[in-house]
Amino acid sequence: MTESELFEIAAKYYPQANLTNVKILGNRAILEYKNLAENPAITSALKQEIAALLPEYKISVLFVEEKTADLGVEAIAKWQIKGVRKIIGVASGKGGVGKSTTAVNLALALADCGKRVALVDADIYGPSVPTMLGYDGSPLISEDGKYFKPFCEYGIKSVSVGSLIDRNTPLIWRGAKACGAIEQLMTQTDWGEIDVMVIDMPPGTGDILITLSQRVEFAGIVIVSTPQDIALIDAIKGVNMFKKTGTPVLGIIENMSYFICPHCGERADIFGHDGAKQTAENMGETFLGAIPLEPEIRRTSDAGTPIVAENPDSPHTKAYQEIAHKIIQRVG
Ligand code: ADP
Repeated sequence: MTESELFEIAAKYYPQANLTNVKILGNRAILEYKNLAENPAITSALKQEIAALLPEYKISVLFVEEKTADLGVEAIAKWQIKGVRKIIGVASGKGGVGKSTTAVNLALALADCGKRVALVDADIYGPSVPTMLGYDGSPLISEDGKYFKPFCEYGIKSVSVGSLIDRNTPLIWRGAKACGAIEQLMTQTDWGEIDVMVIDMPPGTGDILITLSQRVEFAGIVIVSTPQDIALIDAIKGVNMFKKTGTPVLGIIENMSYFICPHCGERADIFGHDGAKQTAENMGETFLGAIPLEPEIRRTSDAGTPIVAENPDSPHTKAYQEIAHKIIQRVG
């Protein structure tokens, strides 16, 4: 079945004007309606008709609210981040896909390429960069009281929003305080000269992410996804959100892509495989590379000695370095 045939079926059930996305990705059929109340009986009939024609396919019918906020690129003043040449955001459609792990190891791999690197932990829902880089506490303040002094571990400078917002602060307050805290950290830290700043973004497509994409002059965003359908659907939403704000998307990274058994060396595709690659291709985006599901990656992150720093010769480090090279080729 082609996407236009799928479109024709979908348009019989709900108004065509609200049907904003029709995709066939591998063995998935995805329909997205905007600003429409779902009628479960209609959705079920729609799914049944598609399932009869595509019995092997997974069918996802999504109902999304279009943000009324203006996502455009008009003159919203950008934050002035002194000394920083290029900024790259590491984002994910949902939490738990390994976004922070990827951001940290990617920052280290960029430093291996000879870049002066800064890493900003802006993930207010789970600021984990300090743990992964092995530091704790708040950044020091400069003698004149005007600037934060960033932490410097493994040759990269970093600060975390977790230093300014108490872990015990309820989520709702964290959200309200987050943008101010992130702005303060980015604009009032004495970065020195930085070639590439990596931002570990909050997951999802919420308001903080929209504000960041409006306020920060990004060279580009990389989206991290695991290969499962459900993560990929969220990754697609993420890509579309950034496109809407005029923020360039550099590509998609597939994390926890495959597992190599340490005993027999056989490869197992635990969450499926190549889903992110296919999604990237279907969306006309770049596939930046695959990182395996690897206990060493988890262990080293938890221990504050990320794999790229601890084991520069491991094949997993090479996977991050290849992605770092591709990013440098794109943004310079
Ligand atoms: P997110 O930032 O998307 O919420 P994290 O980076 O905190 O996700 O990762 C979630 C968990 O998965 C952590 O325990 C991390 O160590 C682990 N993890 C991330 N990537 C990998 C990987 N490639 N292999 C094994 N474990 C991983």
